[in-house]
Amino acid sequence: MPTLSRHIVEVAIPLPLQGSFHYLVPQHLWPLVVPGKRVLVPFGKRKVTGYLLGSSDNHQNELKEVIEILDEAPLFNADELEFYCWIANYYLHPLGEVIKMALPAGINLVSKTRLETDEDGVPVVTEFLAGGKHVRTEKFYRLRFDGEEKVRGKGREILDHLRSEGECSASQLRERFGSCSEVLNRLVKIAAVTVEEREVYRDPFHHESFGKDAPLPLNAEQEKAFGALHAALETGKFAPFLLHGVTGSGKTEVYLQTIAATLAEGKTALVLVPEIALTPQLVGRFKRRFDCGIAVLHSGLSDGERYDEWRRIRRGEASIVIGARSALFAPLERVGVIVVDEEHEASYKQSEGVRYNARDLALVRGKLAGAVVILGSATPLITTLYAAREGRLGYLRLANRVRELPMPETTLLDARGQKGATFLEPLVEAMRANLEGGGQTLLFLNRRGFATYLVCQDCGHVLRCPNCEVTLTYHRSRGRHVCHYCDFTLPAPTLCPKCQGPEITLLGRGTERVEEEVKELFPEASVARMDRDTTRGKGGHARVLKGVEDGSIDILIGTQMIAKGHDFPGVTLVGVVSADASLNLPDFRSAERTFQLVTQVIGRAGRGDRAGRVLVQTLAPEHYALTAAVAHDYDAFYEQEIVYRRDVGYPPFTHLVALTISSTSHTQAEKASEDAAELLRRIKRDCQLRVEVLGPVTAPLGKVRGRFRWQILLKGKERMELHRILFHFRAVYTHPSTVRLVADVDPVEM
Ligand code: ADP
Ligand code: ZN
Repeated sequence: MPTLSRHIVEVAIPLPLQGSFHYLVPQHLWPLVVPGKRVLVPFGKRKVTGYLLGSSDNHQNELKEVIEILDEAPLFNADELEFYCWIANYYLHPLGEVIKMALPAGINLVSKTRLETDEDGVPVVTEFLAGGKHVRTEKFYRLRFDGEEKVRGKGREILDHLRSEGECSASQLRERFGSCSEVLNRLVKIAAVTVEEREVYRDPFHHESFGKDAPLPLNAEQEKAFGALHAALETGKFAPFLLHGVTGSGKTEVYLQTIAATLAEGKTALVLVPEIALTPQLVGRFKRRFDCGIAVLHSGLSDGERYDEWRRIRRGEASIVIGARSALFAPLERVGVIVVDEEHEASYKQSEGVRYNARDLALVRGKLAGAVVILGSATPLITTLYAAREGRLGYLRLANRVRELPMPETTLLDARGQKGATFLEPLVEAMRANLEGGGQTLLFLNRRGFATYLVCQDCGHVLRCPNCEVTLTYHRSRGRHVCHYCDFTLPAPTLCPKCQGPEITLLGRGTERVEEEVKELFPEASVARMDRDTTRGKGGHARVLKGVEDGSIDILIGTQMIAKGHDFPGVTLVGVVSADASLNLPDFRSAERTFQLVTQVIGRAGRGDRAGRVLVQTLAPEHYALTAAVAHDYDAFYEQEIVYRRDVGYPPFTHLVALTISSTSHTQAEKASEDAAELLRRIKRDCQLRVEVLGPVTAPLGKVRGRFRWQILLKGKERMELHRILFHFRAVYTHPSTVRLVADVDPVEM
């Protein structure tokens, strides 16, 4: 830093405010100023933590002073800051909030590093997390000199052990010698050993041991894909690819070998998978293949564990990072390849706070880093394949399964005119035959609970949530009606709450009810259910999966949780109880979602040695999403869907931004949304932008958690123009403080 009479810095603050802020640095802090550190600054009447962006030549007088610089080392570097700025601009979100989101939550818990001395007066640095948690440290002992004859017994054994083993940790010594802290303290006191307290990492996979396995010789299709990826890697330039291959076609093997080639170049790899696919099996496959440090980031980690992994990556101790959505922000350097597996998964989009899409940002990060980006999927997004056809992505196809397993025989069952029976006859027969033949069955229904609503046969009253515009789902196991949006619950009534009539009926079925009907049909079968209700507690999930794996479960009923990522070789029959719920969502992607889901469910059948069978019950047996899915024909689906998208002007032919305006007051929400739409139309006219302003209309869920919601949709062929209209809009739009406005760029659920 140049010596100045005044030293002013620019600070990003994690509050919903546009722009950055400027502060004066008091002279004693000058040497500590480095961009990327956190600072404590006065803000209004409060003190807040902000992020140092750099020095500033702002000449404002009346600047407030930085109170404290909170970190010894920066938390992010210039490249990372560039990435954060890109995100803040693109998603129209304050930079401070983007930075806060990108850093692990554990960091914000560290209240202070403290310098302490241990009993020998040796200084030890300890980072204390607020709330009593702190970075885990352990004592390590080393032999200093061992002349003292007076040391006998356990002390003697420990000294001998240290002489032969070198340094040992307290827990290693405890394992060998039992409790020995008093003995150790005495040895330290007489200076026979030295002790050093160091940080240790919490490793969630530490108890598992992994063997080793070697790369597989690639088949011709894999070889071709790998060749293209390897060539791109060697150029050291950004190169995005779509790796399109059915489940079992060997995509993961291609990732593994591309990563091996990346590591050989001295670079690192980032692997994103949907949370649900982040299983020990997958992690095991990586750990068996690679000797290097592998960091795993998943939602089961505590803030402390997540922070440990983050620091391990920051220090360069991991060359591969595997994780769900947020792993995109891992502080990995020299990234050579980024894999986004199951790139079509909606869970890559964050639905709160900064509404980023990790799949899209993987391309941005790849571009900034000059990396190869692989988007892998059996059912790529329509927009992704379109980009590949337009030549913006390399297209790599694995058309066949590695082991010549036939695709399962798949049939649509027409449920029309069947009075809403849960199971049509052919499905019951197939389940019976499968049970008798010793095969396992999966039954899929994307709705949890027992019944989706309760209606009074006398007055027609339907039980609804008082806070949200939805019906309450009856959960028999809890004996309550539950709102799936705000968790409001009501004990099950025996009479209609409105007319006191006795004829109340439960309609619409969820997984709980399917489970009950299956148990009635096949009392001898062992039946289990897996959805968010059954797997709440830690380990619930694993128990069910193990039961399917070891064959002790005959029939498993579940939501999309069972459709994804799992490999169950014993499953020979899959039944889709109803494919209609997802087809009828008010979203232009409902056909695409249904195609993906049914394809995935089909992929669960016949993965072992025996052929599989799939039966799909539906009220829309002619719908192209279903006919294409059962014919295992992605291309047929794409050809129809792209025509529809073009006709209605949806992505990939346009880009979208959804504005949601909400308030606890119905009239205020309506008024604010009308004002917003009018203002947007005026800006569009004045600036002559080719953007469509649609709405306002009430949102598909008109009321959630007591807030009334209105929506405006902006559609445009050029992203730049969409951004321009929003920048102008934000600068002038004002609304009452009770109104909330959320802009969702590239919305995934509408
Ligand atoms: P995907 O990721 O497309 O589902 P995988 O890479 O998991 O496919 O491969 C499916 C199965 O085939 C795995 O058991 C894998 O070990 C095996 N496999 C993959 N590539 C080969 C190969 N070239 N030779 C033999 N087996 C392979
Ligand atoms: Zn509710």
